[in-house]
Amino acid sequence: MTASQGQGPIEHGEAHNGALGNRLNWLRAAVLGANDGVVSTAGLVVGVAGANATSTELLTAGLAGLLAGSLSMAAGEYVSVSTQRDAEQAALAMERRELHLTPEAELAELTGLYEAKGLDPELAHQVAVQLTAHDALAAHAETELGIDPEALTDPWHAAWASFAAFTVGALLPLLAIVLPPPTHRVWITVVAVLAALVVTGWASARLGGADPRRAVLRNVLGGGIAMGVTYAVGAILGASTG
Ligand SMILES: [Zn+2]
Repeated sequence: MTASQGQGPIEHGEAHNGALGNRLNWLRAAVLGANDGVVSTAGLVVGVAGANATSTELLTAGLAGLLAGSLSMAAGEYVSVSTQRDAEQAALAMERRELHLTPEAELAELTGLYEAKGLDPELAHQVAVQLTAHDALAAHAETELGIDPEALTDPWHAAWASFAAFTVGALLPLLAIVLPPPTHRVWITVVAVLAALVVTGWASARLGGADPRRAVLRNVLGGGIAMGVTYAVGAILGASTG
């Protein structure tokens, strides 16, 4: 039986809220991934520029940083989402087994969970009986495990999304340092990066329901410090080696 069969209006409403929350989470993850790409690549190219690198050297360093960062983000995301999905699938399999072997105990358990949510015992029992008849696994997954069995995250999807988000962010400092004439490239990059960090800081705070001003300030400060430190190190190394 699938969850889409015979859904009432209330279940549809819940599914909508869940989907919206899910989409906002994805969007926020994408903004944060792009932010990582901006900050880490900006720190890298500004540091290399501080050592008086040529445009080719900057392009090489920036591209290597972009690929290293986006691939490591994608791999990390793949591992983390796979692990979570394995755990969720194991929990669902165990729930399925329990529903098969001890349906009475499972019904009592579900009733208890609805009582704990605030329904009186009689109503909790009715709800448990009806939802068990409708889709027992979905009811247990949602109430007991907090999982939507129809909406498990695909690890490849998550990995690809992190890769793309980081790459988009990383392209900004990379282009800003490579395209302008050498005498102007550092300040142009710094200005472009700080402007981008205002946008990503604001967007991630709004999507997460936090105060945008403080998030923007922290984000811009963090990125500014990262570029200041790597530029100083690059300048010192550049001066001492040649
Ligand atoms: Zn159960």
